[in-house]
Amino acid sequence: MTAYDTALFWFRRDLRDEDNAGLFHALANARRVHCVFVFDREILEALPARADRRVEFILAGVAELRERLRSHGGGLRVLHAHAREAVAALARELGAGAVFANEDYEPAARDRDAAVAKTLEGSGARLHLAKDQAIFARDEVLTQAGAPFTVFTPYKNAWLRLVNAYYLRGYPVEKYAGRLAPEPAGAALPTLEGLGFAKTNLSTLALPTGASGARALLADFLPRLSRYHEARDFPAMKGVSYLSAHNRFGTVSIRTLAREAWQAKGEGAATWLSELIWRDFYFQILHHHPHAATGAFKRQYDAIRWPGLPEHLAAWREARTGFPIVDAAMRQLHATGYMHNRLRMVVASFLVKDLLVDWRDGEEWFWDTLVDADPGSNPANCVWTHLTPARGPGSDQIEIGTLAGSRAWQSREQSHDLAEFVGHLRQLPGVRYQFMESMDD
Ligand SMILES: Cc1cc2nc3c(=O)[nH]c(=O)nc-3n(C[C@H](O)[C@H](O)[C@H](O)COP(=O)(O)OP(=O)(O)OC[C@H]3O[C@@H](n4cnc5c(N)ncnc54)[C@H](O)[C@@H]3O)c2cc1C
Repeated sequence: MTAYDTALFWFRRDLRDEDNAGLFHALANARRVHCVFVFDREILEALPARADRRVEFILAGVAELRERLRSHGGGLRVLHAHAREAVAALARELGAGAVFANEDYEPAARDRDAAVAKTLEGSGARLHLAKDQAIFARDEVLTQAGAPFTVFTPYKNAWLRLVNAYYLRGYPVEKYAGRLAPEPAGAALPTLEGLGFAKTNLSTLALPTGASGARALLADFLPRLSRYHEARDFPAMKGVSYLSAHNRFGTVSIRTLAREAWQAKGEGAATWLSELIWRDFYFQILHHHPHAATGAFKRQYDAIRWPGLPEHLAAWREARTGFPIVDAAMRQLHATGYMHNRLRMVVASFLVKDLLVDWRDGEEWFWDTLVDADPGSNPANCVWTHLTPARGPGSDQIEIGTLAGSRAWQSREQSHDLAEFVGHLRQLPGVRYQFMESMDD
């Protein structure tokens, strides 16, 4: 017995048919399920450049997803429209009693979803949202006093006490895949040009797209998981998973990743799981404190007046600070849309603590250029790196120092990857202390 005759499933940042919680709920509760993805004009028009790797990454993921749904006898309608109006209009056209989707914790997405829910209500339909992006979200991990955590370590300890196989189980979409409805005959996939965007260098990068790309990256990473805790400190080593863009757009299930880490024993797996928990932590920060998407978690830090010069910000963005590791990392960002975590920490710290430029200017540049740019992780990590490194976003301590002496700084001489972006590094065996020299050279 199903609750609805017809339902619509709305893909957003969950571009996969495997282990998709919202899709599973739609299929379990309706006799026929149509699927839609909307290239939302509201989002696309706000992007700063007309060549954007993220749009291309999403388009490739959507194309693969459509083929997968077709292989189950279903299909995917792909619209280029304003999602706020288009989703409810499509539901009406299809006679869908409900729209199913996965929760999105970004303030703008929550606002959009509330508007869609209201319009649907007007025509007697409902919006059902499922948890899919995170293992624990909203109020699932609270302090003993019932308040949201603001400090990571106690949050992580509570998360680890709570987690079990139930929370990490997959959703067997394939069980009900026969209920997927095909798309109308002749419905075409938009082209990049049709969306108003030009091709980037994405296809030349070591970032395979779609759910198949995520699977390939995970298969490559798992044999390295046991050494993650050591290797992740060295940007020149292949120590991390490179899965962040897939985590951002949901081409991989977070339950699959967390299960792999949780079931494996050892320090490498525990450290990687901890990184995945940071992601949940920032989602719940965003849920409880939506202002953290655009400002400091502690609002008083927004009042800091940063004396940094616009020309220093420009030099940082354009990778001409004269400090090899900073310039190499910024060139890598420009060339690939990716930057290793330790380098993100180095360049973000350098911008604020050495150049005294407002962290929000750096965050904005990251937001515009990172393929994995995320409103939960990006601002929060920027604030964490700059202002509250001692104890996380809940801390009252502001530490203005440098990352001098950290392993990431020390690793730069070994970095062949970095040398690729700053060719002269190879000729500079004595660059060890250069980063503290003047910017005016
Ligand atoms: C200044 C700054 C800005 C950042 N901006 C972003 C951002 O916009 N989007 C983003 O996904 N990550 C961001 N990070 C976190 C981290 O640097 C990236 O997630 C990581 O480098 C991605 O590489 P990976 O997939 O190989 O990570 P791995 O080391 O393999 O980690 C696995 C996954 O865990 C999650 N993760 C890892 N570190 C963090 C972290 N510190 N916070 C939250 N999640 C984490 C990511 O989803 C990542 O894919 C930022 C870090 C800093 C210091």
